[in-house]
Amino acid sequence: MSKNQPKGTSVAVIGAGISGLSCATQLKALGYQEQLYEKIRGGQWSYEYSQ
Ligand SMILES: Cc1cc2nc3c(=O)[nH]c(=O)nc-3n(C[C@H](O)[C@H](O)[C@H](O)COP(=O)(O)OP(=O)(O)OC[C@H]3O[C@@H](n4cnc5c(N)ncnc54)[C@H](O)[C@@H]3O)c2cc1C
Repeated sequence: MSKNQPKGTSVAVIGAGISGLSCATQLKALGYQEQLYEKIRGGQWSYEYSQ
């Protein structure tokens, strides 16, 4: 089985910072269905850049 074949497993990633985004990218590359949750609408980075 190749590593990016669908695994049929869903994984929740909490937080869309750099850690969460890179984790979600790796999970997707490995064939997992990822769901990213972020508590700040638009994300923390867009909040900081809007200052
Ligand atoms: C003012 C400032 C300047 C910085 N400048 C630099 C720099 O120039 N260069 C550099 O390399 N680093 C810099 N850093 C450090 C860098 O921002 C952090 O190391 C990096 O953002 C950590 O990434 P992370 O994904 O672990 O956490 P975070 O970026 O903090 O991401 C965590 C995310 O999880 C979300 N979250 C938290 N709890 C929940 C929850 N219960 N449900 C849903 N979502 C949730 C948060 O809203 C956030 O978006 C700076 C930090 C600060 C504060």
